[in-house]
Amino acid sequence: MAEDCIFCSIASRAAPAHILWEDEHTMAFLDIFPLSRGHTLVIPKRHIDRLTELPPAQYGAMLGAVSEMCRRIEQLTVNYNVGINQGAIAGQIVFHLHFHIIPRYREGEAFPRRRLPLDPADAAELSRMLSNGGGRAPPREGTAPPKG
Ligand code: 5GP
Ligand code: ZN
Repeated sequence: MAEDCIFCSIASRAAPAHILWEDEHTMAFLDIFPLSRGHTLVIPKRHIDRLTELPPAQYGAMLGAVSEMCRRIEQLTVNYNVGINQGAIAGQIVFHLHFHIIPRYREGEAFPRRRLPLDPADAAELSRMLSNGGGRAPPREGTAPPKG
């Protein structure tokens, strides 16, 4: 755990967050200044700054968690961006690796210039929809159940 890292504090549950998913290596929670409704962050629990520092043994866990959260977000919309800002010039503000999953709802709609804080009532509603009791979402028809 890195000192003064907000995502390490969330991973250790020392700081609050609307946690949607957790397993041994990964965690997902709602972004506190969402770019759109349901904006979710997926992190490795262990502190690393960059994707290139992720131990290969955790590639599966990381992509599995991102994929699982994408599947849950598809309850909101099948349109979303998945991305990483890596380095300050690329827009990275929190230097603990995180994947953004940013739902998109309307064609041509730009991200807001001024980001509003997560609405507590909506966060509670989204948590109910997306956390699925902390377990895995049931597989969709025609898809294999996730392993592990
Ligand atoms: P970056 O620009 O580093 O890729 O994105 C950092 C993201 O973390 C931003 O979208 C920001 O709103 C979010 N964020 C920053 N601090 C906190 C926090 O304390 N809690 C949560 N849930 N999200 C945070
Ligand atoms: Zn950290």
